[in-house]
Amino acid sequence: MSSALRREYLAALGLETWVVRGKSPQSREPPPPDAQAPREVSTAREVSAAREVSAAREAGVDWPELRARVAACTRCALCNTRTQTVFGVGNQTAEWLIVGEAPGAEEDRQGEPFVGRAGQLLNSMLRAIGLAREQVYIANVLKCRPPGNRDPSPSEAAECLPYLEQQIALLKPKIMLAVGRIASQNLLHTDVTLGRLRQQVHRFGLSQVPLVVTYHPAYLLRTPTDKRKAWEDLKFAREVCARV
Ligand code: URA
Repeated sequence: MSSALRREYLAALGLETWVVRGKSPQSREPPPPDAQAPREVSTAREVSAAREVSAAREAGVDWPELRARVAACTRCALCNTRTQTVFGVGNQTAEWLIVGEAPGAEEDRQGEPFVGRAGQLLNSMLRAIGLAREQVYIANVLKCRPPGNRDPSPSEAAECLPYLEQQIALLKPKIMLAVGRIASQNLLHTDVTLGRLRQQVHRFGLSQVPLVVTYHPAYLLRTPTDKRKAWEDLKFAREVCARV
């Protein structure tokens, strides 16, 4: 996250930027010529504060306004290469929110998440636990396609996640299903492997929505032997949802 964005978050929370004692940025005294730049502090408290304000950036925005903001977004360089933004699709009263990584080529063309081969497998996975695609809400960590389907960069994810946070605030899902390592790690702010994140109930963001992870359908197309594990994850998620 850029320091300008971090300052914006902290300011919106009413927190002053954390600097070396005695060198407050609010000071009206001009800094001495040899003043050091404010110390970058990356404590858990700061990260957590930044996340809260990050969510607050879109707070109170309704579906049409949020969609318009996403469509017009220029917060990162992906706006220069996208065909269109991919906001998300589905039932706005859904209990299930499925979150993938980022749009691929087909999604970028059609403006809808998970429409390619991986999307068809995702539909089948959902059907296996009694859910139609139309019953759930489907979105991605990123709203724009990274060129060549590369992984999202940390700053792209940080810029885009507030949109997902507000989608969650509007949707109020009972459960989130993160599909794939990249989505899971970005949502949970961790670098723990997918194998170790599976079969646990995590919590997402301020709303603390229960979050379960499973394999990405594109990975399952390449590694069908892991479909059995994905099936266990889906059943696990269904049990978690039933308990909420
Ligand atoms: N993979 C994703 O993670 N998201 C999509 O929308 C499509 C493929």
